Amino acid sequence: MAQQNVIAILDDSSVLAELKQAWQDSQPGSSGGREEGGFILRDAAGRMGVERWGKGTQATIRLPLHRNCQVGGKDIVASFHTHPNTGQDYLQAPSETDKRAVRDDPDLNGAVYAGEFVISQERIYLIAPTGQVSEIGNTREILR
Ligand SMILES: [Zn+2]
Repeated sequence: MAQQNVIAILDDSSVLAELKQAWQDSQPGSSGGREEGGFILRDAAGRMGVERWGKGTQATIRLPLHRNCQVGGKDIVASFHTHPNTGQDYLQAPSETDKRAVRDDPDLNGAVYAGEFVISQERIYLIAPTGQVSEIGNTREILR
């Protein structure tokens, strides 16, 4: 189910447009970028949309309440955040903290939750609810 959701999410043009916008808003560059993130939600009619998290300071993002893997009565099908800094001092792949945040959040274990996408300059990764990381593909190809 979760795997089908990954495909459905990356097939949804409105979601992709929002992810692209979040990537641009995070001001990618060698340094000085700002992580952006959000929830990808699905309503009872099956429509997907994105609810962005509040702007954090630098790398710190505070997640809004998401009890039982829902926000405003909509299911959270995935979450995402950006890794905008491409300089050598910055990790492109999900960090240990990123993995723990997904794995250890009891409110991110809904039946339809596919995991958290991490968008970097070159690659998009997915942190599964188990904390396991996989590569989804090339960022430029996915966020055309
Ligand atoms: Zn991260």
